[in-house]
Amino acid sequence: MDYEQRKIGIIGAGAAGMMAAIYACQNGADVTIFEKNDRVGRKLAITGKGRCNVTNDCDKGEFLKNVISNPKFLYASINYFSTEDTKAFFENAGVPLKTERGRRVFPVSDKAQDIVYALKQTMLDYGAKLVNERVIGITANDGKITGLKTDKRAYSFDAVILATGGASYPQTGSDGDGYKFVKKHGIEVTPLIPSLVPLETKESLTEIMGVSLKNVTLKIKNNDTDKVVFEEMGEMLFTHFGLSGPLVLSASCHMNNMRDGKYTALIDFKPALDTKTLDKRVLSDFSKQQNRDFANALGGLLPSKIIPFMIRKSGISPYEKVNNITKEQRAKLVEILKGLSLDIKCFRPIKEAIITSGGIKVSEINPSTMESKKISGLYCAGEVIDVDAYTGGYNLQIAFSTGALAGTHAAWDD
Ligand SMILES: Cc1cc2nc3c(=O)[nH]c(=O)nc-3n(C[C@H](O)[C@H](O)[C@H](O)COP(=O)(O)OP(=O)(O)OC[C@H]3O[C@@H](n4cnc5c(N)ncnc54)[C@H](O)[C@@H]3O)c2cc1C
Repeated sequence: MDYEQRKIGIIGAGAAGMMAAIYACQNGADVTIFEKNDRVGRKLAITGKGRCNVTNDCDKGEFLKNVISNPKFLYASINYFSTEDTKAFFENAGVPLKTERGRRVFPVSDKAQDIVYALKQTMLDYGAKLVNERVIGITANDGKITGLKTDKRAYSFDAVILATGGASYPQTGSDGDGYKFVKKHGIEVTPLIPSLVPLETKESLTEIMGVSLKNVTLKIKNNDTDKVVFEEMGEMLFTHFGLSGPLVLSASCHMNNMRDGKYTALIDFKPALDTKTLDKRVLSDFSKQQNRDFANALGGLLPSKIIPFMIRKSGISPYEKVNNITKEQRAKLVEILKGLSLDIKCFRPIKEAIITSGGIKVSEINPSTMESKKISGLYCAGEVIDVDAYTGGYNLQIAFSTGALAGTHAAWDD
């Protein structure tokens, strides 16, 4: 039987789209990849603060534990293209990698651009054709894909891979087009919610914006249930709108059905000391500073920029001499040092989120092939699907794994 080369169109030259192109070419397909930006991988280029945390050096079980939405859906794709495969791919493409704290893998060069270049060059070397046009829709007939339309013309394909990304950081090109394309064909999309996103507080924190804290514990309490939904130690930052930084982004993944007042953040400035030990420490600091104003006695405990704010919260006059501070007043100070309480108003908008939670419903897609169950020949890969994970390189791994699987199956009419 003669082998007929399949013609594949891929929408989006990001992490998932480029990996899909490479796998489709390796499997003998004739591949055209469409990117609306004049450059490929614009989001990839800003990942990991420009260093690109390309994957996590963990096994499959650990990887799946770090996926927040629909981990089971990813079972086949991570088996097909694992974190080991990601590392081997980039090392073979001439990008040496290193592993940092939390098993986070980065290029040795600390340049995300090297990751973008490796993907782009590999896909072009394999013969993929890059077309810089904006796709405006997919075309299908009788439940079978027929091609796609760009703002310039229509193209016919045997298979189309949708890899348009999420809806966050729209300036990078991922502005949610893919969701519109599939909705038109009756494919369900779950609500889009920002994830790994900063938090707005009810109280204005402009006075302390820019203050960053290391080795603090952040707790998030659900006020409806009185349960702590997140508790971790790490780094965070006060901003003009509220809270940001790695701890806060991680915490946001644990906050569901967000509404004003539902959650309270509690910051422990001294997690290494229990309340009693911290009280002793404050007492000892005060006894070394007899006759000093309270306002000038907290330098050993807190960053200077935050002291006036914390003094106000304590309710103690800044001009009170430390030796006049009562046991009760000290207890109040210790209480806010162990748990500064800030009510959360909302997430920052999706455009500021690292990832989009929600997307093409996983029950619409065959997890073993990434093919749509409604439209044969349509495949999906990457963030456009309703899967998302914690920080640590897991989200790019999702894009690579689903991209590789979609590329392979699109190349075979199975
Ligand atoms: C600031 C930031 C930092 C991040 N850091 C990390 C990190 O270090 N590690 C990690 O694992 N994850 C990180 N992420 C998440 C990660 O970048 C995404 O999960 C990943 O890029 C998703 O890959 P994707 O290929 O699905 O989508 P994208 O990478 O977003 O690619 C989609 C592509 O499709 C194109 N496109 C969209 N619509 C159309 C259209 N109509 N026609 C043609 N082309 C179109 C877009 O222009 C884009 O190039 C970060 C995200 C952000 C915003």
